[in-house]
Amino acid sequence: MIDYIKYRLHKNRRPLRYQLLQKLLLNQSLSSTQLLDKQQQDLADMVVFAVGHTEYYKNAYRGLLPDDPAQLDITRLPVLSKEAVIANREQMVADTVDKATMRLGYTGGSTGQPVSFYYDDYKMELMRAGMSRSYMWSGWRPGQKILNFWGAKQDIKPNSLVKRYHDYIAAEQTIGAYEYGDDELARWAHLIQTWRPVLIQGYASIIADVARYVIDHKLAMPTSIRAVYSTAEVLYDEQRAVMAQAFNCRVTNQYGCREIPNIGLECCHGNMHIFTDMVQLESGEDDQLLITSLTNFLMPMIRYANGDTGRLKPGQCACGSPFPMMEMGMCRSNDFIKTKGGKKIAPSYFNRLLDGISGIRQYQFIQTEIDKLILHLNVTGEIDKGLQQAIQNQIHGEVDPGMQFEIILTDDIKRTVSGKYRFVISHLN
Ligand SMILES: [Zn+2]
Repeated sequence: MIDYIKYRLHKNRRPLRYQLLQKLLLNQSLSSTQLLDKQQQDLADMVVFAVGHTEYYKNAYRGLLPDDPAQLDITRLPVLSKEAVIANREQMVADTVDKATMRLGYTGGSTGQPVSFYYDDYKMELMRAGMSRSYMWSGWRPGQKILNFWGAKQDIKPNSLVKRYHDYIAAEQTIGAYEYGDDELARWAHLIQTWRPVLIQGYASIIADVARYVIDHKLAMPTSIRAVYSTAEVLYDEQRAVMAQAFNCRVTNQYGCREIPNIGLECCHGNMHIFTDMVQLESGEDDQLLITSLTNFLMPMIRYANGDTGRLKPGQCACGSPFPMMEMGMCRSNDFIKTKGGKKIAPSYFNRLLDGISGIRQYQFIQTEIDKLILHLNVTGEIDKGLQQAIQNQIHGEVDPGMQFEIILTDDIKRTVSGKYRFVISHLN
């Protein structure tokens, strides 16, 4: 009953989100063929819109489009690289946008190259609606509790009374888990026992640590938990197994990125389905994923190479979903940083330390000793002389006061065997 009242209150506060959710839910009753037709139409509409309303696509696609949009062959259009997004951010914004309503977001991505992009309230509400649809695949219903474990500190707003009320009616709590030890793990396990969430969602590495703590201390977890939703990082089999054991529920992998959320979701048969009413996905050279957002009319993203790998998977899934399937490649492999004081710091914390600093082409934090951290930076031009001191101060305040920190400029940041950049590496592991 309380869930229902919260749901009504939240629906009044976020009417757009629930309207969008209704539309998304209806798409699930379309057939595979109908969804494919809709996707082709949405794709053609997006390309025509981008060419008509942005400087970037008008120039990039000049001479490449057929007269009849129905004849569009997307594979003939150029790939949108991260470098291109960095270089053309302003030119990618549509001329239909009221710029006063845009905000700047940053990727918490898997490769060592930060990308910034614009978003607005509509994009946020659509993202949340898409996530709500995903949760419903596990039997969650609007109004039921979700506990988030989040590794990106900048995403978490101060805990004001207003925010606490909004969290209450949204039935959501978010734990900023960018640094923690046994004390925090104990507190979070206790919170799960007493607050009794229906879903647990967040970074795979963090939830796996909570799960290991729960198992090691033989803590009973509430039967309210229906599923764990893993996001933002690669979910390893070992992590999946400890989560399933600790919380006695299904563990689901979600796929999306900040620039283009809600790309795919794993179903109860363990297959990753692509949300073709929100994205178009291609697998290019070396399984490089190229993703087109079918909904972003603010800053269109067409054939965007987000740095992940994977491929389309033919066939029908036994779960009955009309959405096609894909297989994910493994490429986001980063380490936790440990401190003398016994803390473990999530890789995303270091990723976000460089937000807003321009001119960075690539970066890599390497912990060489328990009290020594080196940042390899590949930059265009010169870096601000105060940067080393500023980052060091932040690390001393938030990570460990005894951590030595040094920046080394280089144009040779090593890739992993799979050809991907890792941005946080610990030699202690
Ligand atoms: Zn399925």
